[in-house]
Amino acid sequence: MRKKIVAGNWKMNMDYNEGLSLFSEVVNMVKDEVTGDQTAVVCSPFIHLHSLVALAKGYPKVAIGAQNAHQAESGAYTGETSAKMINSVGATYVILGHSERRQYFGEDNALLAKKTDTVLANGLKPIFCIGETLDERNGGTHFDVIKSQLSEGVFHLDEAHFSQLVIAYEPVWAIGTGVTASSDQAQEIHAFIRAEIAAKYGQGVADATTILYGGSCNPKNAAELFAQADIDGGLIGGASLKSRDFVDIVK
Ligand code: PGA
Repeated sequence: MRKKIVAGNWKMNMDYNEGLSLFSEVVNMVKDEVTGDQTAVVCSPFIHLHSLVALAKGYPKVAIGAQNAHQAESGAYTGETSAKMINSVGATYVILGHSERRQYFGEDNALLAKKTDTVLANGLKPIFCIGETLDERNGGTHFDVIKSQLSEGVFHLDEAHFSQLVIAYEPVWAIGTGVTASSDQAQEIHAFIRAEIAAKYGQGVADATTILYGGSCNPKNAAELFAQADIDGGLIGGASLKSRDFVDIVK
């Protein structure tokens, strides 16, 4: 059985103290909600990581992740943070390829393939984001976009490494807009993603891959989205900044 995951993506929100109080509330409320094959992940800015890992100690179903990592192991890259550094503070996940990184920081599939390698080489699990823009969907190229994001970004991996990945489908037009993909639209793409994985790595690997939905997910729409056969949880932006909303989505 594949893992069910709800991951919060705080983006560039929360100063240090705000982040610690939000996370303390979240841990208290989710600790009895996540069991078995379920995990709640919080992906915070780098400055919070070490403290959140400490607060999550003793709760094996609550994990901490970063939102980016540099592709190089180390070196003269002023302002950057390496996968090894992220691992050294005890975080276990890293979001890669978020559409905001693709759009504002020019991250393309080739760069993301390198980042994926470095993150995996340092023992971290990528939450690898893919998704089409509104123009791409309206132009009918959304399946092609998803296919090339997968093939150029992660299909160079061998099976053992690919199996460490979580995939997040986030249609760009649904991120932070209040417009959610319908459960049918999301399921259609999730099934497509799983079929692409099956064609590349076999059905066993595809069935074991966790595929999250992201984009204006909230306590009202989460249950219907997560009930779809190929949706294994969510990547939550705005709603992860309110402890009650995030925990309701986890529930
Ligand atoms: P949103 O963001 O939930 O605010 O739409 C999702 C994301 O960007 O991961």
